[in-house]
Amino acid sequence: MSEVQVQNNYKLSSKNLDVTYVNNKTGAEVTALQNINLDIEEGEFICIVGPSGCGKTTFLNTVAGLIKPSSGSLWLENKQVEGPGQDRAMVFQTPSLFPWRTVMDNVMYGVEIQKRVSAETKKRAQEYINMVGLKGFEHHYPHELSGGMQQRVNLARALTVEPSLLLLDEPFSALDAQTREFMQKELLRIWSETKKTSLFITHQIDEAIYLADRVFVFGARPGRVVDIIDVNIPRPRDLDIKRNPEFLRLMDHIWSIIEKESTKQGFE
Ligand code: ADP
Ligand code: MG
Repeated sequence: MSEVQVQNNYKLSSKNLDVTYVNNKTGAEVTALQNINLDIEEGEFICIVGPSGCGKTTFLNTVAGLIKPSSGSLWLENKQVEGPGQDRAMVFQTPSLFPWRTVMDNVMYGVEIQKRVSAETKKRAQEYINMVGLKGFEHHYPHELSGGMQQRVNLARALTVEPSLLLLDEPFSALDAQTREFMQKELLRIWSETKKTSLFITHQIDEAIYLADRVFVFGARPGRVVDIIDVNIPRPRDLDIKRNPEFLRLMDHIWSIIEKESTKQGFE
């Protein structure tokens, strides 16, 4: 089943990846991703931006092993991705917390389903709760937390399983603008402490540039990579870098690509 083993130093490699959905009833096909070739280095923070429907979630789900490629392949540390695994953790747009569980028990859920509950993982859960800024809230329930705090719980849960790759699908898009900016800054702080290779999806261009080492711009119909942008803005990054000329230049550049793509689709 495996193709020829690729040997490289990349954390994640996507080789000629295609994903096509087939409607079970009608047999109609949708090419969600076409010929995706990407290489991601260990410790990189990658953002994927693109218009709605360009296959961002499909790509992330394929990396997570939840969707099988129709052709091509994905390699995580030189091993072909053939299904979900403990080496990847996902943070979704909605916090997906259990309302009847406390913060601590929600954070422990990830290691619980992996049957790795131990004094050590509990200690680690507490460390990540502290890191995301929720110290003192361990025994609170989700309804007692704001949206931003709930997403912190989600993040702590993902980090506690100590994945080798962190996958985030528009995790801040349900938050109000101010909380969202604050969470972006917090995420960078947490990332700089963990240096976890991260794949973050957003449709907000400024969020992508602010967070990323590199931004992959996807275009739609079929979903494909239309540009890869290096963000050469030094870290640590404060929120006021969003007003610096290099930031604004990158905003304009990405915006013009996405605008062109959207016009092609008739979304004008
Ligand atoms: P994005 O996350 O960029 O908005 P998606 O990956 O959700 O895009 O979707 C990419 C394309 O695939 C869209 O045209 C969408 O309608 C289609 N699609 C997504 N999921 C399915 C599915 N389960 N079955 C059929 N088509 C799907
Ligand atoms: Mg999506």
